[in-house]
Amino acid sequence: MPDRPTPQPGVLKIAPYVPGRSEAAGAAETIKLSSNESPLGASPKAVAALADIAGELAIYPEGSSADLRETLAAVHGLEAERIMMGAGSDEILHLLSQTYLGDGDEAVIGEYGFLVYPITTQAAGGTPVFAKSRDYQNDVDAMLAAVTDKTKIVFLDNPNNPTGTYLSDVEVRRLHAGLRPDILLVIDNAYAEYVTAPDYSVGTDLVLEADNVVMVRTFSKMGLAALRLGWMYGPDHIIDAVNRIRGPFNVNVAAQVAGVAAAKDQDFTALLCAHNAEWRGWLTSELSSNSLRVLPSEGNFVLVLFPAQAGVTAAEADAALLKEGVVTRQVGAYGISNGLRISIGSEAAMRRVADVLKKFMAEHAGV
Ligand code: PMP
Repeated sequence: MPDRPTPQPGVLKIAPYVPGRSEAAGAAETIKLSSNESPLGASPKAVAALADIAGELAIYPEGSSADLRETLAAVHGLEAERIMMGAGSDEILHLLSQTYLGDGDEAVIGEYGFLVYPITTQAAGGTPVFAKSRDYQNDVDAMLAAVTDKTKIVFLDNPNNPTGTYLSDVEVRRLHAGLRPDILLVIDNAYAEYVTAPDYSVGTDLVLEADNVVMVRTFSKMGLAALRLGWMYGPDHIIDAVNRIRGPFNVNVAAQVAGVAAAKDQDFTALLCAHNAEWRGWLTSELSSNSLRVLPSEGNFVLVLFPAQAGVTAAEADAALLKEGVVTRQVGAYGISNGLRISIGSEAAMRRVADVLKKFMAEHAGV
């Protein structure tokens, strides 16, 4: 008998998630571009809604987040009964893994899939199986080839974090068509609001057509990261199963009321998308050069690939940016040691990033 409590198998194999840094020590001012938050803060209407609940803190939230589900249903043309809310989409990913994975089961994940997927898989006793990407893009053929009779879930972040690349509707449908009906396809559209590619789909049609597809979304990239609010749209039988293990009051009142106001504030959502598209395009073309490759991104961030040459590595660029107060994200944990992920921020932030990196490259690589 063990002489102390023992975690379930798999738990201690989990590599702890390291969040984006918040501070540039020693710099006069910090510009945080490390966690893909909103480039323009929160919807003013969501901020105002929060003030109204200060007198209601003693009362439990409505457990199913009914107002919020009705609002999302109206805004997106969906059915409220098929929506489930979570404390961030991270919670939803955990709940899906707990519901559909057990010891010995496998989850297929793209080579550079979001790091929370292997965590939730292992926490549920499952094994993550990584499918090679093709030039930093999820590869449908490789994902299908990674499926075995033990596969229970396929996780697809679309767009992908940290690469920013995406799969078209046709490719997502091809992935789905190649899966057995007992395998759950989790389409994680955390960055859906920022996508401008015309052949992209959020996948709600597929959710309605199939019995084994869910769409996962978040408010975190749209200005409410602090409140922890995510949601899922899925078939009735999946919503029913996952609701049975969801905490009865998992989404707090502040998140619910701010979420309703933010979801209704489609002008602010449009503003965010337009700002992001402009500065994502600008930063991509400013930084792209013979030495730096900026992957085409559909998210609110870009992944910049640095040369393997001493003096101009991603780690050295990170240090140069930090000295100027700019905090970005190294992505070695994803196996991309030459990459720096930079969230799209304000115009001033983007100009600062471009200035610092251009100077850095000119001084150290002679370009
Ligand atoms: N999915 C993807 C692809 C993400 O990049 C993130 C945030 N980094 C999440 C899910 C989690 O978002 P949240 O828990 O804040 O809703």
